[in-house]
Amino acid sequence: MRVAAGLLVAVSLCAPSLAWSQAAPPKAAPAPAPAAAPAPAAAAPHQPPQPARAACNNPNALGVGRTVEIDTTGGPGFGFQHFKELDFLKDHEVVLTFDDGPWIGNTPAVLKALADECTTGIFFEIGKHATYYPEIAKEVYAAGHTIGTHTWSHATLTNKKLNDDQRKEEIEKGISAVKWALGGISPAPFFRFPALQHPPEMVTYLGTRNIAIFSCDLDSFDFKARNAKQVEDVIFKKLAKQGKGIILMHDFHKHTAEALPEILHRLKAEGYKVVAMRAKAPVQSLPQYDEAILKEDKLQTVSQRPVSSVVTDVTQ
Ligand SMILES: [Zn+2]
Repeated sequence: MRVAAGLLVAVSLCAPSLAWSQAAPPKAAPAPAPAAAPAPAAAAPHQPPQPARAACNNPNALGVGRTVEIDTTGGPGFGFQHFKELDFLKDHEVVLTFDDGPWIGNTPAVLKALADECTTGIFFEIGKHATYYPEIAKEVYAAGHTIGTHTWSHATLTNKKLNDDQRKEEIEKGISAVKWALGGISPAPFFRFPALQHPPEMVTYLGTRNIAIFSCDLDSFDFKARNAKQVEDVIFKKLAKQGKGIILMHDFHKHTAEALPEILHRLKAEGYKVVAMRAKAPVQSLPQYDEAILKEDKLQTVSQRPVSSVVTDVTQ
């Protein structure tokens, strides 16, 4: 569904809409762009379309109210906790977002709850976690959900001990790691800063990389919740007040995974509609960070089998 495609055209900095049809850039180096200019739209990688969500067999499901496509040129910011321009949600519309995965147990439980209600969200994955559980990252993608990124190691990028190169590395290695976990499929150019701490230099940098920044409208503070009911209570208390919004949750957390079925039931019962957010084109990872990920010597696979069950002598 492309009902709202173009809804956010106003954020485009007039880049030509040739991302998917333009031939590879010429070999000759183009004239250097001004430092803050967005990369050319032609840089978007070509890749097969993402699988669609499964057909819905639950006639009473929450479902998806509408899908919007985001032109991330220039790095627009979403979420009124930090950004003030892009008020695209209508009353009683919500966007579900899940941070810090993929994680064993909890992310699959979140995927099941979303599938049972035929609905969707954005997963802001930590690069390291994606390298621990690439099969779970692939499940998120195969189920038709949007995947964004959330740095390589969840470093707080306002930390004064980090220089700008290290901050960029956190952002870029996160992107490259998620791409690696997805078997070379680039995620969306959607990024969320850890702890919603936004160093201005990196906000500018993401603009030059044409990566949208996601804060939130409504923080569930699920990482502080002592049980599933608390996660639900905070969300609905804030929703009652605000009426709509981008909701920040964590698929990394057990209580959130436990609370999600009831949260989704209640969203439906109280007349809320889920809005799916898709990127117009995938993110363009940078080759040096793709290579850095391949050199990580601690990449784990999802396999927990002991070496003796994987490797057996057939001749001595
Ligand atoms: Zn986080």
